[in-house]
Amino acid sequence: MKIKDIDTILNQEQFSKNDLVYLLAANKEETEKLFAKAAEIKTKYVGNIVYFRGLIEFSNVCRKDCLYCGIRCGNKKVSRYTLTDDEILEAVEYSWKNNFGSIVLQSGERNDSRFVERVELLLKKIHAHTNYEMGITLSLGEQSEETYRRWLAAGAHRYLLRIESTNRELYQKIHPADNHHEFDTRKEGILLLQKTGFQVGTGVMIGLPFQTLEDLAGDLLFMKEMDIDMCGMGPYIEHVDTPMYQYVDMLMPLKQRFELALKMIATLRILMKDVNIASSTALQAIDPYGRELGLKVGANIIMPNTTPVTYHQAYSLYNNKPTVNEETDEYIADLEQHIHAAGDVIGYGVHGDSVHFGNRINKNK
Ligand code: SAH
Repeated sequence: MKIKDIDTILNQEQFSKNDLVYLLAANKEETEKLFAKAAEIKTKYVGNIVYFRGLIEFSNVCRKDCLYCGIRCGNKKVSRYTLTDDEILEAVEYSWKNNFGSIVLQSGERNDSRFVERVELLLKKIHAHTNYEMGITLSLGEQSEETYRRWLAAGAHRYLLRIESTNRELYQKIHPADNHHEFDTRKEGILLLQKTGFQVGTGVMIGLPFQTLEDLAGDLLFMKEMDIDMCGMGPYIEHVDTPMYQYVDMLMPLKQRFELALKMIATLRILMKDVNIASSTALQAIDPYGRELGLKVGANIIMPNTTPVTYHQAYSLYNNKPTVNEETDEYIADLEQHIHAAGDVIGYGVHGDSVHFGNRINKNK
């Protein structure tokens, strides 16, 4: 049987797992073709527009103990913080004044009733404060259906819940074996969010110990099967105070993890043409302009960190997580310049919703 070549695969409309593995394993010359195709599809289906989401990491208090994550509850070295409403509103105002169009509220995972209620009130407060103009994405972990409903009703409309890895065995290896780190519950969360009416995003970590290219191809097919609207995925970066640090010698060099993450973005853009794809902060942790490179190969969302700088160190999910102040005019001007150099314009003052979501809703009507 003739083995397919890159040009044949890139011109297909349907992709088998083997095709995806081929793309992820592409050599230098093939990678250029992959990236060029992804850029072409991005232009055609979502346009050369980047949307900003002002990221607010409002608390690192977490009930989970994920073995890769620096803010896991078992890490006693972390000083825990929670922003006040005023601090959050100030960060929101920065995004609003700068016409970012949207914010992302992210935190460690809690699902006690005080937390649920606080987020609900906060959402209402944010909308009242910003004339109901801001798009709001939540990234607050697994919650009950009732909680998702309440938060949607309070004005959030997009939710990011990364599946982290879709290989169940690998998922189990990177999470503690207790009843609140279950693959099935996390997957169910994605389904519940869709049912509730959110635009839903997921994503994975790339370059985990024990992870294969087949696993990553499986992750992409999972996103396709689940019909997700948005994706945020990035390289896994070790954190010294986590159990998974024991595998540090098994990891690919950072540069290789970075390149693989770019290939994942490009391959997803080809597989799911009209979804929103974030160029993750973890790319920026490896290369200061890593996010801009992500834009060139298919990503269309950037989340400038608008958390007050004093808290950045305490939200260290992984080593070398950037702690730059992204809330300055100089920083934004530099970001703009690099985005323009990458061939994109910035979609100021609009929500920048997932085109896929619109198409999905129309299809199901
Ligand atoms: N509590 C929320 C938000 C989690 S933090 C939730 O459960 O969804 C956001 C993301 O950071 C995680 O989903 C994970 O994919 C990523 N992350 C955590 N530790 C990481 C590491 N060591 N390297 C790279 N990404 C990491």
